[in-house]
This record gives sequence, C-alpha cells and structure tokens, in this order.
Amino acid sequence: MTGIKEPSFRESVDLMFNRAASLMDLPPGLEEKIRVCNATYTVRFGVRLRGQIHTFTGYRSVHSEHMEPVKGGIRYALAVNQDEVEALAALMTYKCALVEAPFGGSKGGLCIDPRQYEEHEMEQITRRFAYELAKRDLINPSQNVPAPDMGTGEREMAWMADQYARMNTTDINARACVTGKPLNAGGIAGRVEATGRGIQYALREFFRNPEDVQKAGLSGSLDGKRVIVQGLGNVGYHAAKFLSEEDGSRVIGIIEWDGALFNPDGIDVEAVRQWIVKHGGVKNYPDATHTAEGGAVLEEECDILIPAALEGVVNMSNAERIKAPLIIEAANGPVTAGADEILRKKGTVIIPDMYANAGGVTVSYFEWVKNLSHIRFGRMQRRQEEARHELIVSELQRLDRYLGDAWSMSPDFKSKYLKGADELELVRSGLDDTMRIAYQAMSEVWHDRDDVEDLRTAAYIVAIDRVSKSYRAKGL
Ligand code: NAD
Repeated sequence: MTGIKEPSFRESVDLMFNRAASLMDLPPGLEEKIRVCNATYTVRFGVRLRGQIHTFTGYRSVHSEHMEPVKGGIRYALAVNQDEVEALAALMTYKCALVEAPFGGSKGGLCIDPRQYEEHEMEQITRRFAYELAKRDLINPSQNVPAPDMGTGEREMAWMADQYARMNTTDINARACVTGKPLNAGGIAGRVEATGRGIQYALREFFRNPEDVQKAGLSGSLDGKRVIVQGLGNVGYHAAKFLSEEDGSRVIGIIEWDGALFNPDGIDVEAVRQWIVKHGGVKNYPDATHTAEGGAVLEEECDILIPAALEGVVNMSNAERIKAPLIIEAANGPVTAGADEILRKKGTVIIPDMYANAGGVTVSYFEWVKNLSHIRFGRMQRRQEEARHELIVSELQRLDRYLGDAWSMSPDFKSKYLKGADELELVRSGLDDTMRIAYQAMSEVWHDRDDVEDLRTAAYIVAIDRVSKSYRAKGL
C-alpha cells in the first residue's frame, strides 16, 4: 500500500459507497444523486466573552432530503471541518435507511474545544449557534433535527431546544426540533445510553449467528470475550459497561486521549469512568498499566476491538498490525477505506458504523415521535395491560389451589408478569428489535450474494437500495 495516499474521511465514505453501488443496477445518474451532499452551510459568528469578541466557525450539512426532516448530530471539536461534516452527513443518510428511521441525513459541527470554556460561556456560544441554524431552518422539527455527537450532550440539546422555542413561540411541536434532550426538557428514557446499548444489541445479534462468528475465527458467545475500547465517552463507556456487566465480556484495554490502560485480567469500566470524571483522563489509574502512546493498544491481541472515539484511527499505517478478528465501529469512520481493504484481505470481520452506532438515531426517532405525539410511551396502555394480566394470574391462582401439590406457580411469576412495561423498557425493546432486523437485512445480502465480501458493502447495498426506491417513488 506504500505510495497510495490515505483518503480523507469523505473520500473514504464515497469509496465505500462506490464499491457497493458498482454491484447494483441503479438507473443512470441516480448513483451520483444519492452520493453527493446536497448542501453545506458554513457560518461564522461572534460571541462576546471575557471582554472581547470571539469568532467561531460552524457547519450544518444536509446530505439527502429524500425524507424529511433530515437528522444528524452536532459535534463540538477543534478538528471539525467541512469534509468531516459532509462525510458524517452522508453516513447519516445510509444509517437512517438501514435502520428504517424515516429521515434524510444531516450533520453539524462547531470548531471549538469545549474544555476551554465555562458552562455559562458554552451556553452563550451554543445559543448563538442554534440561533444561526434555526434562522435558516437548519434546526426545525419538520425539516432538520439535530442530536448530540462528540463533545455535546443533553445540556447542549436543552439549550438548543430552548433557543428554538424562544424564536418560535407558537410552534406546538417546538420540542421536536432536537433530540437527545434531558427527560425534564422533553427527552426520552434511554437516549443517553442508546448508542452504547445499540453496540451491545448489535454484538448479541452477531453472536446469535454462529456462521458469522466463525467467519471472524471466533466461537461461542460474548461471555469471556476480550474487549479493547477506544474512547470512554458516551458511546464507548456505555458499550463497555453493558458488555462487561451484562454479557460477561472482559474489557482488557481502554484507550483515551491521554494514553491507554491495559490489564489482561480485566478493567473495571465504571471505576475508570469515575476516575476520568475526577481526574480528566486515565493517567495514574491504579489497577492497570498505563501506556502514554495510546494508539499502540489498538494493536494488542483481543477478540473484539471497539473504536468509539475518532475517525481514521485504523488506517493504512497500522491496519496490517491490528490483531482483533472482529471490529465493531462504534465511532463514525474509525476505519479508513484503505485500512478496510487491508483488513478485508486479512479476514477481519468489521461490523460497520452505519449499522453499529445506529442505536442513537433509533432512539432519537422514538424521542421525536414522543415529542410530536405529546405523550409518554406506555401512558395509555400500561395499567390496562396490567389489569388483563391480573385476570390471567387470578385464573392461574385458582388452578394452583385446585391442583394442590401437583402444580404451583413459580414464586416470582406473579410480580414479573403483572408489571407493565415503562418507557425505558419499551425504548430498549424497540431498539433491540431495530438492531436485530437491520442486522438480518444486512447479513442476508452478505450471505446470499457471492460478490459481496463484507458486512459494510452489504449494509451500503441495503441502504442505497432503500434511498433509491424513495427517490424513484418521488419521480426522480
Ligand atoms: P464523547 O465526546 O462523549 O466521547 C468521546 C471520547 O473519546 C471522550 O471520552 C474523549 O476523551 C475520547 N477521546 C478524544 N480523543 C481521543 C483520542 N485521541 N484517543 C482516544 N480517545 C479519545 O463522544 P461520543 O458521543 O461518545 O461519540 C464518539 C463517536 O461515536 C463519534 O465518532 C460519534 O460520531 C459517534 N456516535 C455518537 C453517537 C451519540 O449518540 N453520542 C451516535 C452515533 C455515533
């Protein structure tokens, strides 16, 4: 691969798209229409802070409006640029199509290091950015609905929603203008954990398919699998926590911005998270070995590698040395197109970003629907379901008495069966179902077609096919 230039993030997404499109029979011109980004808005705005005006640069890119509103997170990072925002917007189009969330793709970003600002300064900057976007309908419940991404969370979404509501005082659906809001500001239970939870559900579904597990040279279940995770932020933390606490996987490596922790016996994810909250990084964490050169730990032996931080971390310079037989792309674009080719030749199985981290947009979809319907999920039917269950339980109790010692109800059956599902349970159930169905759609193409070598190409084929059908239905 020496001498071949590493593609940019957007070029990588386009190369992967082209690879899949070349295996499809699309009408002339439609391929290009789907691939290109419709529009990217760049805004520079000033905010008076600490006695002087600071100028910030932000972007909102709309990749495809085959369905509206368009959807995608807003990222706060110094490295944000147009190429990145456009690549992420394109991935959103394909991701939404793959998990059947009825949205087009969009993404936004602000060039900023949030660590340099006080909370009240962040609020001023965020409100001003939201004002600039809302003014142009780039935040709008029926046209463009942002969500959190790297560097943003519930706090920023609450400010943005409030800013939109102040500018649109009579819009009854104002709360649906962004997702990922806190519960008390119109959010939904389970949104914060959603992307990490989706990683867990994706891996569970993968391990339900022994043939696929075998392709990665693995066997058995998630129990005992050695995991290395890069980035213990929203996505990485929840994924690593759930896998270690609920599925018996062993997290042996955690890579953060200030180096990596390694312990072959396993690392306590919750303890490291608390350490980061207190100390700002992983350095000096007592129960693991710290390496300053964090990236090197990507190359350690493990069963599952979860890059959950930045794009392009597995690239042409290190792909050959990656030992993990299974990579699940929790971050967007962590594997470049060049690295993808090297890994494919090596037989590494990659569960692609467009599927793997779709848990976030899936639960955002539920939140948007909740906001538009103005009612919490389960509010109407929960007690009615409980009453119907009560009927069955009382009949079973009658039977229990009648049969005497011959049969009795299991001790906790009654309490378990009677409990109606709350919002969190419904959200998790909807997310699990979405992740299973999307996996099946993707793996069907992977298995059925000899010319499709990998899950990523299969995922693109499913997504492009759906987007193209939607364009054709519109008469394009
Ligand atoms: P986050 O800001 O919560 O976490 C990112 C983490 O990565 C932080 O802990 C940060 O310290 C760490 N990090 C920064 N630089 C690093 C480096 N050089 N090496 C190792 N770690 C480093 O962000 P997030 O929301 O968890 O997003 C992570 C990725 O997941 C992004 O690619 C994002 O686009 C993608 N994603 C997020 C969501 C979501 O719902 N938040 C949804 C889909 C995809």
